[in-house]
Amino acid sequence: MSELRELYQEVILDHNKNPRNFKQLELHSHHANGHNPLCGDKLELFLDVSDGIIRNISFIGSGCAISTSSASLMTQFLKGKSVVETRQYFESFHDLVTGKELNEEAMENLGKLAVFAGVQEFPARVKCASLSWHTLMNALDSSQEIAETE
Ligand code: ZN
Repeated sequence: MSELRELYQEVILDHNKNPRNFKQLELHSHHANGHNPLCGDKLELFLDVSDGIIRNISFIGSGCAISTSSASLMTQFLKGKSVVETRQYFESFHDLVTGKELNEEAMENLGKLAVFAGVQEFPARVKCASLSWHTLMNALDSSQEIAETE
């Protein structure tokens, strides 16, 4: 295993063990549920958006290490970002986990989220890593439907 890969593993394990922003938001403007039946991952996402900026974001739920750490890193990453930027990050993240080539700028913008590049080799894991992002899009589009990764 390469050093880089070990580092990636460490970040994922850390966020799985101590998920950041793991709580309900009493005050929220957006909310959605996500479910990945293939793995059994479930999460509920809360967002407080005003003036097009994500002021606060949190999640609760249960799932595998990949889905939990992905949701944790995503909430940490998106706090303070604009909704417009966030939609671009969704596209970049989706490209990253599905193995599409990203330009240098897009890769740099993803920062720590790059740790999920490794899942592209495992199609079942792609759904775990992207569940929180699909749920996020549903929340922003204020869809009441449960995000399914299938
Ligand atoms: Zn999973």
